Amino acid sequence: MAHRWELPLTSEEANSTGYIHGNAKSHLFNSETGMSYCKKYWQKPYYASEIKYTGKDRDFCKKCLKKYKRLEEVE
Ligand SMILES: [Zn+2]
Repeated sequence: MAHRWELPLTSEEANSTGYIHGNAKSHLFNSETGMSYCKKYWQKPYYASEIKYTGKDRDFCKKCLKKYKRLEEVE
């Protein structure tokens, strides 16, 4: 299943940059449904730019990270 790390975007009228704030965590999004794996966010697939997983776990959503590691083990 396709998935990628993205920063959740706010609605366009809320913030001109589109990003919530500087220390927002990246979430793992399902590229088919646009749903984050922690179920907290939905956004249009491939709308935000992809974030590379760097191994710095504190920059990433804990729930999504757990899922991500499980997915990577299986593949
Ligand atoms: Zn998440």
